Amino acid sequence: MRRYSAFAIAREAFRHHLGWERAWASPAPKSRYDVIIVGAGGHGLATAYYLGKNHGITNVAVIEKGWLGGGNTGRNTTIIRSNYLQDPSAAIYEKSRSLYENLSQDFNYNVMFSPRGVIMLAQTEHEVRGYKRTAHANALQGVTTEFISPDRVKDLCPIINIDGPRYPVLGGLWQARGGTARHDAVAWGYARACSAMGMDIIQQCEVTGITAQGGKVTGVQTTKGAIGCAKLGIVVAGHSGVLAEMAGFRLPIESVALQALVSEPIKPCMDVVVMANTVHGYMSQSDKGEMVIGGGADGYNNYTQRGSFHHIEETVRALIETFPMISRLKMLRQWGGIVDMTGDRSPIISPTPLGNCFINCGWGTGGFKAIPGSGWATAEMIAGGAPGPLAAAFGLERFREGRFIDESVAAGVAH
Ligand SMILES: Cc1cc2nc3c(=O)[nH]c(=O)nc-3n(C[C@H](O)[C@H](O)[C@H](O)COP(=O)(O)OP(=O)(O)OC[C@H]3O[C@@H](n4cnc5c(N)ncnc54)[C@H](O)[C@@H]3O)c2cc1C
Repeated sequence: MRRYSAFAIAREAFRHHLGWERAWASPAPKSRYDVIIVGAGGHGLATAYYLGKNHGITNVAVIEKGWLGGGNTGRNTTIIRSNYLQDPSAAIYEKSRSLYENLSQDFNYNVMFSPRGVIMLAQTEHEVRGYKRTAHANALQGVTTEFISPDRVKDLCPIINIDGPRYPVLGGLWQARGGTARHDAVAWGYARACSAMGMDIIQQCEVTGITAQGGKVTGVQTTKGAIGCAKLGIVVAGHSGVLAEMAGFRLPIESVALQALVSEPIKPCMDVVVMANTVHGYMSQSDKGEMVIGGGADGYNNYTQRGSFHHIEETVRALIETFPMISRLKMLRQWGGIVDMTGDRSPIISPTPLGNCFINCGWGTGGFKAIPGSGWATAEMIAGGAPGPLAAAFGLERFREGRFIDESVAAGVAH
C-alpha cells in the first residue's frame, strides 16, 4: 500500500490524480480463515486491525452484510470522552481516547480527531453532586477532568443561556482533551490498514448461520457460501441478539433506535461539545458548519434504523432553553441507528458458551469513542483465548453474578 503524504499529493497533482490506489480491496471469500469477524463497523474493523498489528494474526476476514461503516459507526454524533465513573469503564475509554490522539499517524489516514473539549452541563443539584463525584473518581483513575463554574461554561460556549428559568446551568464536567473525530474516516482508516495487512473485508455478505462441532465453532454460513474459521468474533452492535441466537445462546441486550439530526450549515459559533443530560440533548458544530444534535434513545425496541418527527420535536424543544439560537435554525436531515443496550449500560467483551466464539457488543449509545480501545481489548481476547486486563470486567458472567458496572448516569443519555 502506498503511503499518503504531502509528496504523494504533489506527485498526483502532476498526474491528474490517476495514480491513487483503491483504499481497500474487495476480494471473494476464501474457504477458511484463522479468524472471522462478523460486522465491519468500527469495533469489528478495529478488532481485526489490532489482531494483525499487536498479535501478528492476519489470516482474517471481516464480513459485512451492507457496506463497511454503514451501521452505527457511520450514523453517530462522534463524541469522544472518557469521563466515566467506574474504574473498568474509565480504563477502557481512556485507553481508547489516548489511542485516538495518534490514530491518524498510526495508520496514515486522517481521522480528523478534534480534541476541542466536552462539557457535560450540570442543570440540577443532583447533577452537580454527581459530576463532582465523577471528577474526583477521574482524578484517581488518571483521567483529566474538572468541575467548572457556570461563568467558565459561558466563557467556553458563549451561545449558552446559563440563566434558563427551569434548568439554569449550575456548572459542568469539563474534559479538555475530549472532542470528536470523523466517523467514516475512522472506519475507512481501519479498513485500509487491515486490507494493507492482507486481511479480506467482504462487503454485501450477510452471515445467516453459525456452524459448530463438539461445542466449538467451525465456521459461518453466508449469502456468499460457507466459510470455515478457527475462531469467530461477533461484533454487530444492534444485531447482536440475532447472531447470538445463531450461535445458540441468549444475550441481556435490547435493540433500540437512537436518532440524531443536523441543522443547515451556519458560521462557526461553538467550538466545544456540550451535553445537557437533564433535558436529553447535546450539540456540537461540524466542520461543515451544521449543528449536530442528538437526544435520548427511543422508548421501544426495534430494528428500523430510521428517524421520526416526535424525536426532532422533543430534542429541539429540550435544547432551546439552553441554546435559544437554535429556534431560528432550519433542520436539514435526521437519521437513526440501532443501538445495543445492556441493563448496566456497560459493554460486553466476552467469550461465549460456544467454544472459540467471542462477542463484543452492548456499547449502546456511546461506543464510537470506544472503538480503538475496544478493538485493542477484543483482539487481545481472541488472540489469547481469554479476556485481558482491559476486558476482564466486561464478561457475560457479570449478569449472572450480579457484578454490574453501573454507568447509567454516564451513558444512559450521554453518548
Ligand atoms: C444516532 C447515534 C448517535 C450516537 N452518538 C455517539 C456519540 O456521539 N459518541 C459515541 O461514542 N457513540 C455514539 N453512538 C454509538 C456508536 O455509534 C456505537 O456504539 C458504535 O458505532 C458501535 O459500533 P459497532 O462497530 O459495534 O457497530 P456498527 O457500526 O453498527 O457495526 C456493526 C455492523 O455489523 C453488521 N451486521 C449486522 N448483522 C450482520 C450479519 N448478519 N452479517 C454481517 N454483518 C452484519 C452491520 O451491517 C454493521 O455494519 C451513537 C449511535 C447512534 C445511532
